[in-house]
Amino acid sequence: GYRSRAAYKLKQLDDLENVIDRGDAVVDLGAAPGGWLQVAAEKVGPEGRVVGVDLQRIKSFDDDIDDRIETIRGDMTEERTRDRVIDAADGKVDAVVSDMAPNMSGEYSLDQARSLHLARQAFETALELLDTGGDFVVKVFEGPDVDDFRADVEEEFQYVRATSPKASRDESSEVYFIAKGRLTAPVRPGD
Ligand code: SAM
Repeated sequence: GYRSRAAYKLKQLDDLENVIDRGDAVVDLGAAPGGWLQVAAEKVGPEGRVVGVDLQRIKSFDDDIDDRIETIRGDMTEERTRDRVIDAADGKVDAVVSDMAPNMSGEYSLDQARSLHLARQAFETALELLDTGGDFVVKVFEGPDVDDFRADVEEEFQYVRATSPKASRDESSEVYFIAKGRLTAPVRPGD
């Protein structure tokens, strides 16, 4: 079974816009407890790789998928964590997916601003990692400045689709942007 109900959200997002293929290298931001990692590892298959990062420790997986998954414990708002993720990804990345969410304060405007900040961090990381044609999925809480964020993502990808997966119906304020087809590749040192 899956470690989280969130696993079904990634399945729905992938059914909608096919972001993860066999053999892919995938980076999963805000990956604990690991439901998305399980789904991603199944989809990439034995030739694929998945890197997951979270503030929380992520427990190791069943033997059949564990060797495809590398986990990093760290804060994605810190540059040193982003550098570790870039090192772990080690080259071509096909998809960056982020389900990061802040600890809920209960005050929506604060939680929403924090969510948008995490989404922007995920976007920056995606721009550092994704090759041309790569895909990006990001969760954000609806609210001010989300349209601006979407517009910024749209500039870097062929198109962006917004969706609220059925599996997240009860958290109706969250939306996922699925950004397809990165337009330009990152410039890496040594290229
Ligand atoms: N997709 C996951 C799954 O299927 O198991 C569930 C992710 S959960 C909704 C959101 C995660 O974002 C939490 O585990 C939280 O620790 C993580 N998170 C929040 N802020 C973060 C940050 N600054 N850096 C890394 N992870 C963060």
